[in-house]
This record gives sequence, structure tokens and C-alpha cells, in this order.
Amino acid sequence: MSRTPVVAGNWKMNPPTRDEAVALARAVAGAAAAVPSVITVVCPPTVWLERVHAALAGTPVAIGAQTMHFEERGAFTGETSPLMLAGLAEFVILGHSERRQHDAETDEAVGWKVASAVAHGLRPIAAIGERAEERRVGATASVIDHQLRTAIGRLERLSGSGLVIAYEPVWAIGTGDAASAEDAQAVCAQIRAILRETDPEAADEIPIQYGGSVTADNAAELFAQPDIDGALVGGASLKPDVFADILRAAAGA
Ligand code: PEP
Repeated sequence: MSRTPVVAGNWKMNPPTRDEAVALARAVAGAAAAVPSVITVVCPPTVWLERVHAALAGTPVAIGAQTMHFEERGAFTGETSPLMLAGLAEFVILGHSERRQHDAETDEAVGWKVASAVAHGLRPIAAIGERAEERRVGATASVIDHQLRTAIGRLERLSGSGLVIAYEPVWAIGTGDAASAEDAQAVCAQIRAILRETDPEAADEIPIQYGGSVTADNAAELFAQPDIDGALVGGASLKPDVFADILRAAAGA
């Protein structure tokens, strides 16, 4: 079954000014218009969501938040509620390794967040992936198994959830050392098998992205793999020309 690829740019804590954020969003919109067969997503910092949303009105580019709390309201200083994202974002990245590492986000918290996002009509991009030392000791499959089952464990059903899974080996993020297409495919096939075991009807609908040093040079080979349906892109999403090349590679896959 062919799935529509989803290519999402995770801008992280960039760019530093509102005007630069709007300019970047407009540049992405220009590139996305030429690739209607790809779902293009930009994930700006929370503080720029409203302006980027306005700048992208009428374009095919969807907006994602970079994280959110699972509660709707309360004493959670600095957090963003799913209610606050309503109308501004269609997607939300959850469980990114930088949040797991720097903000102590646990597998269990990611499970709560994924369920909350779906309950609030947001499409979760649930990020999972092994660290370098886990890979070294051959624990990749068990890490993926636990992270994925916990991330989706609170969903009543996968079908119609809008779920996207991003396989992001932590050692590949921001390092220039992307996983080989073959290795990335092997893990994405494992992810698909777990999804199939959980919900045989839905497994083929759910896009599985690869993330970790995706560039214009390696995108086509990654997207040619049967279980890789797009990418979560960090550094290269800040360079409109490179991001446009990655979008074209997804369209050609
Ligand atoms: C990311 O932050 O999700 C990511 C994949 O970063 P990069 O593309 O820079 O490796």
C-alpha cells in the first residue's frame, strides 16, 4: 500500500527572530507548492506558532508544535496545553530525544501525551530511537519495542488516530552520521510489525519517518525503502533550498 510521505522540519530553538521565522515559513511554502504529493510540515518554536500560522494561511504547509503537556490546564510553568495548540497546529512532535535527554521526558509521559494529542484532534509525531550505547550493546530492538508500545499504549485504536512515528536513532541526530538506508529500513520494518500486531487494519496507514542527519544527498535512498514514509528533519529544515530538495526526493519516492 502506498502512503503519502510526511516530511516535517523541526526548527528546534531557531530562528531567533519572528521575521526570520516568517521568512523561512514563506520559503518552505514556495517549495511545498511544487510537491503536492507530499505532506509538508514545519514545526517552529511555540512562540512563533501564531505568526507562522498567519504566514502560511492558504498554503499547503501544515504546522506542528515541538512538544506539549498532556493536561489541558494547570500549574505547569512554561508548558503548552493541547487546548492552546488548537487552531494553530495540526501536528505535534512528542518524545523527541532532546526532550527525553534535557527535560527528563519518559516513555510513560510520551504515552500520556500521544493519547492527549489524539483526544484533542492533533496528529502526534511520536519520536523513538536508541542511543549510541544501546546500539553498541545490541539493544536497539528492545529499546524500540518498549518506546513504541509505551507511546501508543494509551490509544484506544490506531486507526483514524492520525499517528505518525518518527524513528530517530539518537546517535544520528545533528551528527552528520545518518543511519544507512538498510539499517533504518530494518528498524522501520520492526516498527511496522509492532503496529500490525497492535492493529492489523491500521498498520499500513501509519507513516513512519526516519530522522537523523537527513540531507539532500541521502534522502532519496532513505525514501526508497518500503517502510520509510518521509522524514523528520532538523538542521536541513533551516536551509530552504536543502529542505526543498528533500521534499522533491520524497515526491519522487
Ligand atoms: C531532529 O532534531 O529531529 C533531527 C533529525 O535533527 P537533524 O536532522 O539535524 O539530525
